[in-house]
Amino acid sequence: ATTGMAVFPHNGSDGASLLANAGAALFRAKQKSRGTISLYQPEMDQQIRDRRVLHQDLSMAIKNGELSLAFQPQGAAGHSVAESEIIGFEALARWQHPVRGQVSPAEFIPIAEESGLIVEMGEWILREACREAASWPKPLQVAVNLSPAQFMHGDVVGLVHSILIETGLAPGRLELEITEGVLIEDFDRGLALLRRLKALGVRISMDDFGSGYSSLSYLQAFPFDKIKIDRAFIINLGRNPQSAAIVRAVIDLGHGLDMSIIAEGVETVEQLAFLAKEGCDGVQGYLLGKPLPIGKYAGLVGRAEVMQLALKTG
Ligand code: C2E
Ligand code: CA
Ligand code: CA
Repeated sequence: ATTGMAVFPHNGSDGASLLANAGAALFRAKQKSRGTISLYQPEMDQQIRDRRVLHQDLSMAIKNGELSLAFQPQGAAGHSVAESEIIGFEALARWQHPVRGQVSPAEFIPIAEESGLIVEMGEWILREACREAASWPKPLQVAVNLSPAQFMHGDVVGLVHSILIETGLAPGRLELEITEGVLIEDFDRGLALLRRLKALGVRISMDDFGSGYSSLSYLQAFPFDKIKIDRAFIINLGRNPQSAAIVRAVIDLGHGLDMSIIAEGVETVEQLAFLAKEGCDGVQGYLLGKPLPIGKYAGLVGRAEVMQLALKTG
């Protein structure tokens, strides 16, 4: 059980306010992690009000054109940056709030998930990412994050199918990044939907592997195409020997299961060299490039050449 507590008389002098405040504490406990207990604190009211306002703003964000996508390069793991050929990009949502400025997806995605807004937003993100990738002269891969809520509500398979047709993107160029949440929420449903997605010809990758439960039974139950090692382990490479051992083991595990491995959060040449030496397939992180508007990566997607050509002929 997850529990929120409010204590008489400090947190309320009557039943209604005690219950309301226990509810606020419960909300916080659920955010932390299931099975925890949280005691009401007055700041919680303000935080819940803030969230409510942010949620209202978010519901207008798509209509107002405040959402955009940033693209972060993914490369084949080479011993140096120059040897790490770019093979694709991960699309990451960005929200430019009219007053607050950039709001982090770590803040607004959970709000969108709780309220169900993620279904509409996820559709916009997927369409935009596929439309963009279909326009690149080079047939690079594009990875899009799908939230567990998109599997629980909404027709995720029908959506992916129709967006592929609509944008003309070859299914083999689309990779869907999911977290174990998809299988934790409802294992049978999650598994059935993943199988149907895979049958469309898209690739499925297991994001944030190593954080959370990372149950090996999930890897056994579904043939993921790729495992993304969580950035927490990459940060600690070179700092503690446990991380290196875990990264090495996950690479072996993935290869044993015929899955390819990509490490995220690669920031230094030492981390890159270690990963390449251990046989990691792919890398992503600030070292290769930050998430930026795709215009900043025009050369990588093959657009710079096209523009030159247009200049010569025009
Ligand atoms: P994620 O899917 O694990 O995305 C990777 C996050 O790591 C991104 O944060 C990226 O900017 C950050 N990152 C990449 N390389 C480095 C690095 O070298 N060092 C460090 N310190 N960080 C790095 P971002 O864009 O803030 O996204 C945070 C999370 O929000 C994502 O984690 C994902 O869970 C969620 N998210 C973002 N966009 C979407 C989306 O379109 N749909 C859904 N469902 N979730 C999204
Ligand atoms: Ca991701
Ligand atoms: Ca991740």
